[in-house]
Amino acid sequence: MNKRGKILIITGPSGVGKDTVMNELKNSHKEFRFCRSVTTRDKRPGETEGVSYFFITREEFDRMDKDGELIESIEYLGNKYGTRFDEIDNAIESGENLIMILEAHGMEQIRSHYKNDCICLFLFPPSIKELENRLRARGRESDEQIKERLGNARIEISTAKEYDYFVINKEVHSCAEEIYKIVKGETVNES
Ligand code: 5GP
Repeated sequence: MNKRGKILIITGPSGVGKDTVMNELKNSHKEFRFCRSVTTRDKRPGETEGVSYFFITREEFDRMDKDGELIESIEYLGNKYGTRFDEIDNAIESGENLIMILEAHGMEQIRSHYKNDCICLFLFPPSIKELENRLRARGRESDEQIKERLGNARIEISTAKEYDYFVINKEVHSCAEEIYKIVKGETVNES
C-alpha cells in the first residue's frame, strides 16, 4: 500500500518566487504535483484541460458548490475558482504530495479540514529590498503598485508565525531542496 501523501501549502508575498520554487520542486521530484482547481474562466492559449485547471461552466460550478464537493472557493475578476475534496483525497491516498499555492485564508480553510495531512510553509524573501528588486525586475507593476505590494508583504510577513515552517528563497534550487527535505521529515527548522 502507498504511504499517504502530504498537502504542501505555500504562502508568501507577491514576487517572492512561489511559482518558480514550486516548479523546481515538482520538476526535480516526481512524487509532487500541483493541485488542480476548477474554474469558470476561459482557457488561455497554452493551457491544457486538467493540467493546472479543470475548465467548467458556471452551472457545473454552482452544482458542485451546492452539493458540497468544494472545500473552498473564491470569485476573482468575475470568474469562480474552487478546490475539490476529490482532487485532494485521490492524490494523498495514492501517495502523491500535492502542492497548493494559496493566500492565508485559503490555507486556513484547507488546514481546518486536513490538519494532519498539511505542511504549511511561508516563503520569505532574503530582505524587503531584495523583494523590491525582484518585483522591479518582473516589470509587471507600476511604482505605485510595487509600493502597495511591499506594504502587503510586511503585513503578510507578520503572520508567518501561523505556519509550520519558514524558508528563505535566496536561490531557487537550494530553496526547493530545503522544502523537499522538510516534506521528507529530514529537516527540523520548525518555526
Ligand atoms: P488565474 O486566473 O490567473 O489563473 O488565477 C487567478 C487567481 O485565482 C490567482 O491568484 C490564483 O492563485 C487564484 N486561484 C486559482 N485557483 C484557486 C482556488 O481553487 N482557490 C482559491 N482560493 N484561489 C484560486
